[in-house]
Amino acid sequence: MDSLEKRLKDRGVKPTAVRLLILKKMLSGKEAFCLRSLEDALDTVDKSTLSRTITLFHEKLLIHSIDDGSGTMKFSVCSSDCMCSLGDLHVHFNCRKCEQTFCLESISIPSVQLPKGFLLENVNFVLKGLCDSCSKFAT
Ligand SMILES: [Zn+2]
Ligand SMILES: [Zn+2]
Repeated sequence: MDSLEKRLKDRGVKPTAVRLLILKKMLSGKEAFCLRSLEDALDTVDKSTLSRTITLFHEKLLIHSIDDGSGTMKFSVCSSDCMCSLGDLHVHFNCRKCEQTFCLESISIPSVQLPKGFLLENVNFVLKGLCDSCSKFAT
């Protein structure tokens, strides 16, 4: 497991205290964060700093964004070797009960055979249902 500092440096991001704090928070759970939930979790961090940092992390491919259909963009930390290319994309899972979104990194997106002339640029593959915690209490 790489140190947080190394993960930032590897992506060309200068490891400042606040960036380390934000990255650490994002790695603390297995769920993806929206800007709002990060603001709540890191209330000592200035909101504009937080949003600038997320933009920077995103540009540097340190995190990827997830449109889970909730209307709020969520973000999750990429694995160290992820280049956010089509081949690196994985399936996401949105739980209807706890409303968290999870990266299912072990499941890659099935390749699709597009009709002639169609050019694939991005894929958004979100499964919906109950996560492993919520399914225990499902009736
Ligand atoms: Zn759940
Ligand atoms: Zn993901």
